[in-house]
Amino acid sequence: MLQQISRSIYRSVATDIRPDRFGGIDQTAHMRVQKSCDENLGRLLSDREYFAKPAKTLFQEVRAYFPLDSQQRLWAVIDRHVAVATRYVDSLPKTGVDIQGNPIECRATTRRGTNCRRTPLAHNGYCPSHQHLAQTEHVLSIAA
Ligand SMILES: [Zn+2]
Repeated sequence: MLQQISRSIYRSVATDIRPDRFGGIDQTAHMRVQKSCDENLGRLLSDREYFAKPAKTLFQEVRAYFPLDSQQRLWAVIDRHVAVATRYVDSLPKTGVDIQGNPIECRATTRRGTNCRRTPLAHNGYCPSHQHLAQTEHVLSIAA
């Protein structure tokens, strides 16, 4: 799904990518635009809680490959597609369930004040991003 959205962004804007200095297709620019689309949508899936402005980030990464007069359209395409991708990612079931079918979630609270929805590591109940909290807890338990 995200791969399709990424492709769709690229296809929608590919003809606007600046030509190389001989007026031909700039393969490097095309590859970089595709790569940026893939990477940012991938990050949306793997790092949803901490990826604050995905559309803006992607736009900033690729805008240099487009002439000024097509950047407004570029932004519109990216913004629309990233909104769809974000809704899709948010609609996914929470990752990981325990043996009773209850979702397993990281024990941490995010900066937004919501529960972290990532899958925790089995040994301490915190996801990879919140491992530092487990360490703090360990230090506190030694001190107590
Ligand atoms: Zn977490």
